[in-house]
Amino acid sequence: MRELRRDPVADRWVIFSAERADRPMGAITEHIVEPDSFCPFCEGAEASTPSESFALREEGSAPDGPGWRLRVVPNKFPALSGEERPSGNETDIYQRLPGVGRHEVIIETPEHDRSLADMPEARIAEVFGAVRGRMREYRKDERIRCAQFFKNHGQAAGASLPHSHSQLIGMPVVSKLLAEELEGAARHYRQRGRCVFCDIIEFELSHGQRVIERDEVFVALAPFASRFPYEAWLVPTRHEARFDDTDDAVILALAGMFKQIAARLNRTLDDPPYNLMLHTAPFGPAPPAPYHWHIELMPVMGRAAGFEWGAGFHINSVFPEDAARVLREAP
Ligand SMILES: [Zn+2]
Ligand SMILES: [Zn+2]
Repeated sequence: MRELRRDPVADRWVIFSAERADRPMGAITEHIVEPDSFCPFCEGAEASTPSESFALREEGSAPDGPGWRLRVVPNKFPALSGEERPSGNETDIYQRLPGVGRHEVIIETPEHDRSLADMPEARIAEVFGAVRGRMREYRKDERIRCAQFFKNHGQAAGASLPHSHSQLIGMPVVSKLLAEELEGAARHYRQRGRCVFCDIIEFELSHGQRVIERDEVFVALAPFASRFPYEAWLVPTRHEARFDDTDDAVILALAGMFKQIAARLNRTLDDPPYNLMLHTAPFGPAPPAPYHWHIELMPVMGRAAGFEWGAGFHINSVFPEDAARVLREAP
């Protein structure tokens, strides 16, 4: 059973997914310890995943068989599912919703040991393109309010299987983080009449000290108030609220910029585990103030602890100006 519950104090939704208790943690750990053991994401193991919802394959190859270079499959242990009954329920001070949504895995390559950043740019673009395609599918479902795309690279970043993959979750409510960003963007817009991200891009490009890399379409920067050492944001320079509306040229440029920044992080921090998160406007009517999609990339250098959990504050040991300089100068 899946259910969302709203914390009446923090205005934060929590997903309860009881089936996830069945998640075979032991088996998954074995995969990590023994890289030669069975991997459900490898070519030839298609029967061990649910049926693919999208794939890029050789002409003539059959669905759920070999011959693919990218597969999207429903998560075997979904946090949210399309089959839950769509009825809300309020009990006095409490609010709950059925766990309606989608949860899919993007298997980025048939090669077991290939990381996303090591793939050719065109192949990385196919991964981002597949995510955009799935989001366009999700947004047709009126029950889904927004989608969260993320990638956990490395065990310390939360990857349960070493084979390169990422995930997409379609949710019936807007996440607290996205709601806060939408509110911040609205506040900035009220005060200055401009998109806060466009203002950030303009400021950073004219000052330069926090810019890691830029090209015609993207800027990669170490954000002014970085929460984590070497946190990097990849922001398209053209204003656009939704990733699912973006065009192929931007997707290709994103692939190139991701590859560049990942390579710089790898050389500087010796292939760190990282989390990659897409931030994009909710589906449905346009947000009340300009929003601007972007990607946040966070190398995992430690864990959140009491102060972070208690106060919501982050203590960062590396200034973004230094992080950006070190990454710029990476050989
Ligand atoms: Zn594999
Ligand atoms: Zn903007």
